[in-house]
Amino acid sequence: MNNLLTVNTINDILPEYRQTPVGLLLEYHNLNRPLDAYDKAQILIGMCMDNRKHLHIPDNFAFIIRSGGANLRYSEFKVSYAIGVGKVSHIALIGHNNCGMVNLIARKNEFIEGLVNSAGWERDRAEEHFFHYAPMFEIGSETDFVLTETKRLRLRYPKITIAPLLYNVDDNKLYFIRES
Ligand SMILES: [Zn+2]
Repeated sequence: MNNLLTVNTINDILPEYRQTPVGLLLEYHNLNRPLDAYDKAQILIGMCMDNRKHLHIPDNFAFIIRSGGANLRYSEFKVSYAIGVGKVSHIALIGHNNCGMVNLIARKNEFIEGLVNSAGWERDRAEEHFFHYAPMFEIGSETDFVLTETKRLRLRYPKITIAPLLYNVDDNKLYFIRES
């Protein structure tokens, strides 16, 4: 993970994100900045549904959309809502290491067996379900996906600031993903 930038001091926050809600997110989560009071959201956070992640941020600070792999391709109306109605102008896209949406095909049998045994699905339907949706949610690599998704969202919402981040589930810290 040599394309990650650690944030251990305020000077590690990339200059373009200092004095912005993205910088504040890093200060709250990584640097233990005391939690401020907010009465409206400052930022939209897109992050994975994975259970291992917990952000240290103030109440009311962020809209959060959680979706496998921090994939917002199928949550666009909610992104637009946070911008249009919620008036946020910053998005933090947070992938994480060891994401279950990487190499989904390796979990095909487990996925299908689980639906058959736990949910009472017919095997054919479970297989069809997997093969229909897996290509939509497969992400390849956590960091590459977040960078690609960042580029896509910047084109879609050109006046919004979008930062690609990674949550390390081993140390529970946020990192910037280096952009080329
Ligand atoms: Zn994940």
